[in-house]
Amino acid sequence: MKLAIIDIDGVVVDATKRFERAEEMKHASLYPNSRDATDIYWRAALDPAYVHLDTLIDGANDFLNRLIDDGYQIVFLTSRPQAMAEATSEWFALRVFLKQRSELMFKAPGFQYIKTPVWKVGMAQTLMAWYGADETLFVDDERSHWLHAENVTCFASLPAIFMPPQSASADDSDPFLPDFPDFPD
Ligand SMILES: [Mg+2]
Repeated sequence: MKLAIIDIDGVVVDATKRFERAEEMKHASLYPNSRDATDIYWRAALDPAYVHLDTLIDGANDFLNRLIDDGYQIVFLTSRPQAMAEATSEWFALRVFLKQRSELMFKAPGFQYIKTPVWKVGMAQTLMAWYGADETLFVDDERSHWLHAENVTCFASLPAIFMPPQSASADDSDPFLPDFPDFPD
């Protein structure tokens, strides 16, 4: 069974506008360098009401459907809080068109204070066991998430790929998709 664990922000979703708005809210506050302003920033950035500002990264649907063609079951794993689940699912329903059913998993409230790289790898291991995966593709634009995953023993013999969309210049015909490593069959 082949499992593809796919990050959302920076891989499928361009959330630049939502984060720009959060930045504006922060600077509009009375003391932009205060802790309160940081709280304002994060509350604005993670506000489900502004998920509609997000855009689909070019080529994402093609990339995901190509994975499905290659036999992968897709699970989206995002550190977006559970509170953003409904808005995110609605956003996906209108923009992400896949040939096969996929799952969408968020960071549950109980993990709020767990560092995201640690949480992600724990979730990835749980998913690999749940699906009985013998090959796992881990796609994330955050290098720290990827490196942490690589350092965990269960990933040592499994393919993992670090995919920064903004520097994906390896394949000019598809700017989203860099060179894909060969996976053992
Ligand atoms: Mg990301």
